[in-house]
Amino acid sequence: MTNIIFFGPPGAGKGTQAKKISDLLKLEHLSTGEILRLKILQKDKLGLKLKDIMASGKLVSDDVLNEIVAEKIVTCKDTGFILDGYPRTLNQSRFLEKILKNNFLKLNFIFNINITFDTLKNRIINRSKEEGREDDNLDAIKTRYDAYLQTTTEVSNYYSSENPEIFFDIDGSDQIEEITNKIKKIIVK
Ligand code: ADP
Repeated sequence: MTNIIFFGPPGAGKGTQAKKISDLLKLEHLSTGEILRLKILQKDKLGLKLKDIMASGKLVSDDVLNEIVAEKIVTCKDTGFILDGYPRTLNQSRFLEKILKNNFLKLNFIFNINITFDTLKNRIINRSKEEGREDDNLDAIKTRYDAYLQTTTEVSNYYSSENPEIFFDIDGSDQIEEITNKIKKIIVK
């Protein structure tokens, strides 16, 4: 059983790689962005609140995310999982540590995908034409990138100093297949 976290700014290709690796290793792909977008479709009170926050590019509250992830991890703890988009704050990472400990689980790999702001901006603008995501406009991209720099890099730095043996920096500007191959090589070593 393998448990993995993917870090990286929006547009780095976390979701793409997480999907490929989860198919390959038959792991559950837990994309918090996707789970939240499904909740928006329910159009209830929480859904409407999420819609506004996410369209602006701001982070959704830790309480909402922690509850979602706790529930999902418990259901797939025997399969193994890839966390894509979580933890994004130190509070979320502390919560995750607790869930892992309570369920006798541990992390096996952490991949931190790096790209520049210019590359991610162009990628997301192109993606917006295909997917029509409400937060794929220039203002929201800036807000999401700022949230990543101000909040999430602290979390990835924490993991890289606490778990250097399982933490791998990956260049996200390479071709998709090339990145997948690099990740596969690390996993099968
Ligand atoms: P990206 O990483 O490309 O910005 P995601 O699909 O991962 O896209 O997330 C989209 C939005 O969902 C984020 O901008 C944020 O509002 C919300 N979100 C996803 N995961 C989290 C999280 N762990 N904590 C807070 N908000 C989150």
